[in-house]
Amino acid sequence: MNKILITGATGYLGKEVVELLAEQSAESTIAALVRNPDKAEPLKAKGVEIREGDYDNYDSLLRAFKGIDKLYFVSGSDIAHRTRQHENVVNAAKEAGVHHVVYTSFQRKNETASSPIAPVAEAHLKTEAWLKASGLAYTILKHTLYLDMLPMFMGEQVLESGVIYQPAGDGKAAMLTRHDMAEVAAAILTSEGHENKEYDITAGQAYSYGDIAAILSELTGKPIQYVSPSQEAFSKTLSEQGVPAEAIGMSVGFAEAIKQGEFGKTSHDTETILGHQPTSLSDYLKQIYAS
Ligand code: NAP
Repeated sequence: MNKILITGATGYLGKEVVELLAEQSAESTIAALVRNPDKAEPLKAKGVEIREGDYDNYDSLLRAFKGIDKLYFVSGSDIAHRTRQHENVVNAAKEAGVHHVVYTSFQRKNETASSPIAPVAEAHLKTEAWLKASGLAYTILKHTLYLDMLPMFMGEQVLESGVIYQPAGDGKAAMLTRHDMAEVAAAILTSEGHENKEYDITAGQAYSYGDIAAILSELTGKPIQYVSPSQEAFSKTLSEQGVPAEAIGMSVGFAEAIKQGEFGKTSHDTETILGHQPTSLSDYLKQIYAS
């Protein structure tokens, strides 16, 4: 019987994948990698096997990966250190005899250092290359931006202020919910034919913030305007609101990436893997802002 280990299992995405798999598979086939077992109590209560490990600790990964056939490898959240962490994961998977690694990578157009999100890109690009060179079977999921990030990008008060303020110009992104990405993972981990494949996990249609403003206006009956400031004006506004410099840098980088079309690619891979349409932008906005 295939044993599947989910990393990042106490995070939003990994937890959803574990829960979806636990609903449809025998308990004994699902394990969760966690670095803090206290956070894993809810998963343990569902009968999921908990294995302790940290991307920073190679030996812990080697122990945790023993007897695992498929590894769902959730990219780390520590941008400054995750390149080395990911190298640990790929090497430990190989040494432990894992058969197949399914990796949560990212969408992009520009793979060079001039990418507005180059610091985020580095670990993903290297991890993809390491996986391909490792001899392990791999599946690369090129995730678009989470729709779940939109409320954070747009600000909690968007309906009250009536303004979406983002330096993203007319750039479009084909965003998906994190839940749909978790469903994609569960489908891939429980079916065959995905070895040494790369999928564009994006929506079938891309939208700009101008489109989002128009949809929000229609859904809520409140006029919402999109304003695309210069990066300088945007950074100054965030700084005056007390946002830390690092967070401002990330916000500017992602807005610029949207502007340059880094997340604009549309694809039907998601729909094909799911066997149904993913949640649309309009339905997501309805759930969050108009229900
Ligand atoms: P999340 O809730 O922050 O989850 C990240 C998970 O990775 C957590 O379970 C965390 O463990 C685990 N982790 C971090 N460092 C680790 C380490 N050194 N060793 C072992 N585990 C470690 O993020 P998410 O929303 O589930 O998203 C999953 C990943 O997608 C993120 O980590 C990030 O790489 C990427 N991401 C993508 C988008 C997008 O729009 N496509 C947006 C945000 C993030 P703890 O629970 O112990 O902290």
